[in-house]
Amino acid sequence: MAKKEKVFFCEECAREITDRDSLIVTIYFIFLVTYHDTCYSQVLKGWQSFFVNNQPVNSFFGNFKSIAALLLGLFLFFISRPFWIVAFILFIFPLIRLYSWFTVERYLE
Ligand SMILES: [Zn+2]
Repeated sequence: MAKKEKVFFCEECAREITDRDSLIVTIYFIFLVTYHDTCYSQVLKGWQSFFVNNQPVNSFFGNFKSIAALLLGLFLFFISRPFWIVAFILFIFPLIRLYSWFTVERYLE
């Protein structure tokens, strides 16, 4: 697969994000937005933090939350029908995590 098919820009400083280590993916309303890790910490201090999820999708905690939600969701799904709605809500977390990887992270080194 050809690398660098896509270019991502920091929502804060508008410069290109070139490596995965300095990438922060987070949710803005219903959209995924990308920041440099340094810019993201600035954003969290500003007014935008009201809208930006302060737990990045691609953090350790983001991974943990996705896996935990997936396991709990599957568990509830197989217990009984009334829990299905809760299970489906829980499935949103791993889906967002996958979506972030699929649309952004896999393009960066
Ligand atoms: Zn930046």
